[in-house]
Amino acid sequence: MGKKVLVLAEARDGQLRNVSFEAIAAGKKVASDGEVIGVLIGDSVGSLANEMIQYGADRVLTVEDAKLAQYTSDGYSQAFMAVVEQEQPEGIVFGHTALGKDLSPKIAAKIESGLISDATSVEEEGGEVVFTRPIYSGKAFEKITVKEGIVFATVRPNNIEPLEKDESRSGDVSNVSVSITDLRTVIQDVVRKAADGVDLSEAKVIIAGGRGVKSEEGFQPLKELAEVLGGAVGASRGACDADYCDYSLQIGQTGKVVTPDLYIACGISGAIQHLAGMSNSKVIVAINKDPEANIFNVADYGIVGDLFEIVPMLTEEFKKM
Ligand code: FAD
Repeated sequence: MGKKVLVLAEARDGQLRNVSFEAIAAGKKVASDGEVIGVLIGDSVGSLANEMIQYGADRVLTVEDAKLAQYTSDGYSQAFMAVVEQEQPEGIVFGHTALGKDLSPKIAAKIESGLISDATSVEEEGGEVVFTRPIYSGKAFEKITVKEGIVFATVRPNNIEPLEKDESRSGDVSNVSVSITDLRTVIQDVVRKAADGVDLSEAKVIIAGGRGVKSEEGFQPLKELAEVLGGAVGASRGACDADYCDYSLQIGQTGKVVTPDLYIACGISGAIQHLAGMSNSKVIVAINKDPEANIFNVADYGIVGDLFEIVPMLTEEFKKM
């Protein structure tokens, strides 16, 4: 029997993030022939509703309030719980983003459901919806089905294929009115570090540098390659600890978990904590001087050599394409 599923969308700079569309696709699997309801929370987010419908939501509920302009777990949980109370869903899907990771346990506790965190696939198998999620820092995968209660999951960005956009789709958009009260945190201002280029967590191509880049300037050839490929620059903790780059670029167990189509690791040895953040990338290319480096054990393609020779050569070749 079909389920009613709520999917929380996320926007940044007035645009829906891709993970919202991926969550809708996951929501469709959970709903089966039921209904997927997109949920948009923010200050004035109504204009984004149609795009959610074009990506597969059957209808959209908005919760709008000036106090929701910036994410706070208090404000968003009040808003989302109002939607839950109105709709009584049988399924909920969030992106496994900073927001999703913060909000989902809070909501799961409030509705007394379990939570399948960080699912990398959602499939229908033998009449059941099966979630797959990595465990032990990506060394093994577990499969989960929910036998009773609300099916609540967060989905890892870049793993679930969104449905094709269909501009002819239409659906109802309505507002849920909530009075947001007693916020323990009030965001006065957001000061963002100027981020160059593509967002690391959603990038399809990542060029990552390790201690082998040797200095802040050593990242320059990686930035040039990333620019040619339309990708983002990432880093190992080794490079961050050495002050070659900002910690916001760190990939791994204590950094970001990424799953791009192409991950090029330059001067990274392949410590288990680094692999935890990138080993599920679709294609991994490793460039390292040391033929025994552990990174070659997870790489699809390995280049033994000096990154300062190889990376500029790759950039020149890709420029010709
Ligand atoms: P190194 O291990 O020093 O490797 C540098 C590599 O560069 C070497 O393989 C060398 O052969 C190669 N090289 C040098 N010069 C060149 C050149 N010119 N051309 C090509 N190759 C060259 N690490 C993470 O990355 N992410 C995490 O989230 C993370 N979390 C951690 C959490 C904990 C609790 C702990 C204990 C550690 C964590 N670490 C993490 C650190 C991790 O164990 C490693 O120390 C770190 O990943 C090493 O970074 P690296 O590969 O850049 O440096």
